[in-house]
Amino acid sequence: MKPTAMTKTKQLETLDKDHYLHPASVPGQKPKMIFKEGKGIHVTNTDGDRYIDGISMLWNVNLGHGQKELAEAARQQMDSLAFASSFAGYSNEPAIHLASTLAEWAPEGLNASFFTSGGSESNDTAFKIARFYWQLKEQPQKTKFLALRQGYHGVTIGAGTATALHGFHRFAGTHIPDVLHATPHLTACEQGDRNHPQFSESLRALIEAEGADTIAGIIIEPIQGSGGVYMPPEGYLQAVRDLCDEQNVLMIADEVINGFGRTGAKFAVNHANIVPDLMCLAKGITSGYAQLGAVMIHDDIKTVLDTFGQVMAHGFTYSGHPSACAVALKNLEIIERDRIIEQVQQMEHVMTNGLRYLEERHEVVHLSRNKGLIGAFELFQSREREERFPAEWKTGLDFVDMCFDKKLILRALGGADGKSIVALAPPLIITETEIQSMIERLDDALSVFETKYC
Ligand code: PLP
Repeated sequence: MKPTAMTKTKQLETLDKDHYLHPASVPGQKPKMIFKEGKGIHVTNTDGDRYIDGISMLWNVNLGHGQKELAEAARQQMDSLAFASSFAGYSNEPAIHLASTLAEWAPEGLNASFFTSGGSESNDTAFKIARFYWQLKEQPQKTKFLALRQGYHGVTIGAGTATALHGFHRFAGTHIPDVLHATPHLTACEQGDRNHPQFSESLRALIEAEGADTIAGIIIEPIQGSGGVYMPPEGYLQAVRDLCDEQNVLMIADEVINGFGRTGAKFAVNHANIVPDLMCLAKGITSGYAQLGAVMIHDDIKTVLDTFGQVMAHGFTYSGHPSACAVALKNLEIIERDRIIEQVQQMEHVMTNGLRYLEERHEVVHLSRNKGLIGAFELFQSREREERFPAEWKTGLDFVDMCFDKKLILRALGGADGKSIVALAPPLIITETEIQSMIERLDDALSVFETKYC
């Protein structure tokens, strides 16, 4: 008997539950949905149901699903040289071309790249490069890192320590020492206002308390993603840049979500016109079609590294993976050729208007925000009284399930802080009509939500 799609799904669910321990999921639960195919902004499950991917899977499938040219770039490279070592002085053409193309894309002064397999590895690598730099500068005591509350930097022990989201820390409880967290976006404090009521929670206060001679760097997401999609106020990133210069501390920009057009610029630091010392990349570098990350290194640091003259004992088997780099090169080529960043700038307004429309129609929608095609809104019991829903109701998760029923995939954030934040980050190729369709589904889901909770 030929299995129907339904029975096949049931079989897969059982195999999944018994054998596949998922990342960031409840162990032992059957999968919510098994993806089978994707085309543009849509994904289809094993039963043939089609969904809008409103969050680009993990904020990474920027050119959308089923992009044949990326598949072809991988195929061609795998056909000629699938893998080559980059250790011990070996190199390969795609890695060389990608490193030089990234130097053209990045803010001036960031001209060298160290390749990794993803965002966590990029951030860990940035921490190690920063410490190594200070050793070479004969300041080996500069080992500490500052990060921001609500920040997400990955899950390896180094990057995971910098991540400030409670659930990720509860998981195994092992942290590297010397990572401290400050309250984000205290622009006036970073500019030196000691009378500010929250001064003691600022980056500047932390540097002063610990001693600048012990601090290697500050890591920040220019626009915070998984912590809740928080935009820095005007002037904040410049204030952090100035603070780093003044205190002789390296600025590490985590552009893992932000980079490659997501925010309507090549990199989010471009909006503030600042140049970080190290810039961490992943996700959108290949639009998720291959596992790749990079740390871009400023000339001032690279020059110092070049004086070492011995083996820099750090690297991953897949650093500079030729097939992944070939996919990234094609991805960058398409972004430029198809003027994807200009398109994101145009679609930014469509998303803003869509979110405003939802605020007008639904009392529960509050604090909507977006830059380029990364955005969010929050669910409030009362906008007027600034009253959130009780945390234990988990309204954010419930609402994204309601969206799921309307065939729209989104993500709920902020639950551990008692917030119900709904994040939106559709593929950058989304059209105006498709954004409107997303908004219509949100509108319907919000009506269901209001019937249940209001
Ligand atoms: N940094 C940021 C800003 C991220 O959003 C993520 C992942 O979501 C990471 C780092 C970690 O990347 P990866 O999951 O590829 O290790």
